[in-house]
Amino acid sequence: MDLAYSFLRDNDTYSVHISKGHFTVIEECTSTMLSLCKEVSTEHSEWIPPYFCLTEQQARDVGAKLGREVCPYCIRFLYGWKKDGTVL
Ligand SMILES: [Zn+2]
Repeated sequence: MDLAYSFLRDNDTYSVHISKGHFTVIEECTSTMLSLCKEVSTEHSEWIPPYFCLTEQQARDVGAKLGREVCPYCIRFLYGWKKDGTVL
């Protein structure tokens, strides 16, 4: 199944992060409990409604649009980089 990306905002810091999941038939898409950078739990953040269940390219576009609001480590994953700088 294709990967799906959703944007979420941390309840404490208000920083924006991205969570990864898969597109599904029943729900629009699933998502992991932690953001791509693994620093934000989906339980302690709010989804950002228009930016939900996106393809990788759509997520890159939204990331560019939101700019500095978005966690740079989460963005790196969209371009195939791990947090420590190595390629996935
Ligand atoms: Zn992040």
